[in-house]
Amino acid sequence: MQFPPTDAPPGLWARWLATPLYLRILGALVLGLLTGVVLGEQAGALAMPAKLMLRMLSALAPPLILFAIVRALVMAELPAGTAPRLAKLLLLNTTVAIAIGLLVANLLQPGTWHEVGPTPPAAVARNAPGPLEQFVDNIPRSLLGPLTDNGSVVSVIILAIAFGIALRHLRDRPLRTVRDAIDVGFDALIVILRWVIEIIPFGIFGIIASIVGTKGFAAFIPLGGFVVAVVLALLLQAGWYLVRIRFGSWVRPGQVLRGTRDALVMAFSTASSTATMPVTYACLRDKVGLRERSASLGALVGANFNNDGTALYEAMAALFIAQVLGMELSLTQQLLVVVTSMAASVGAAGIPEAGLVTMTMVFMAVGLPVEYIAVLFSVDWFLDRCRTTINVMGDINVSALLDGRQRRDELLEKAG
Ligand code: ASP
Repeated sequence: MQFPPTDAPPGLWARWLATPLYLRILGALVLGLLTGVVLGEQAGALAMPAKLMLRMLSALAPPLILFAIVRALVMAELPAGTAPRLAKLLLLNTTVAIAIGLLVANLLQPGTWHEVGPTPPAAVARNAPGPLEQFVDNIPRSLLGPLTDNGSVVSVIILAIAFGIALRHLRDRPLRTVRDAIDVGFDALIVILRWVIEIIPFGIFGIIASIVGTKGFAAFIPLGGFVVAVVLALLLQAGWYLVRIRFGSWVRPGQVLRGTRDALVMAFSTASSTATMPVTYACLRDKVGLRERSASLGALVGANFNNDGTALYEAMAALFIAQVLGMELSLTQQLLVVVTSMAASVGAAGIPEAGLVTMTMVFMAVGLPVEYIAVLFSVDWFLDRCRTTINVMGDINVSALLDGRQRRDELLEKAG
């Protein structure tokens, strides 16, 4: 049986699913604000759906990163001799992205813009234990956890149902090679991730209502600062790409921007670099005029590894929450943020909001409470679009640099 049943008349649920995610999130934001104002302190208990979501996101993050990296390494087909050059380009871009992110977050310090930090949803939830909280406690914290000695049976059942339904869609896929097995595992995780993403508006509604109700509007001042800081850092990263193209490729930065306009607009409107990939490739080859090989390497291979916007965002988010909490991150912890943000950006599977999932890994690595990620939900729908555009611009940058300083026609003329 499908959920919801396919023969049911298109009702509220179908209409809900058909509404674009960002509109649902905006609706949840407005409704959450109003509910917080009306209910006041009582709205604190509404933080529960966000807690539920965080539990699921934390459980999905490690296998998602594992599968994404294994898959990228197994599937990548690089022409001989290109791998070191490509790896160097990707590593340099990602390091610069994270450095820009940390620099801007350290300079602007958005987390300190107001002394009242947002209330951690966990703290709010602790005041309101009940059957719902008991249910949330059974949501597995990790995928393998429930299978170990002391795992609760309810957690095992929840896992079994989730994977059972997710794999139903994939049950007829033939499994001939290791590649097929990796694909099935990865796709099953993505199916479950999409379900969790569907409930994000409910989490946002609850968390906004609880913050407004218990802390008032002042708690949002740092969040506004965070949005400004991230957008500024992403613009700086875009500037870095254009300067690199100016000096490392035959194509002019203005030409690249004009030729790839469609891909950039699509990245912003879909928040998915994977969905944008074919358009990126076509723009690079047909409109910018790059060689087929550079366009495909940058757009197709780069799209798996290359998510600089996400890396920058994850590092900034960790620093921002540390600032909100008044926590000093030591040099070792900041280095850990850099390394985990890199890994997490590879795992951000090129789909909307994936960066939010893998962010739980970055937070856990440096001991930041993942509950605070819920606070970022309310602005993530917008920042996701911005960082996806930069992720795609990163692929464009790599393609242009791989194409080198000599244009295709010049080489052909010389050969002729
Ligand atoms: N949405 C991003 C992308 O598709 C991934 C992320 O959530 O950071 O590239």
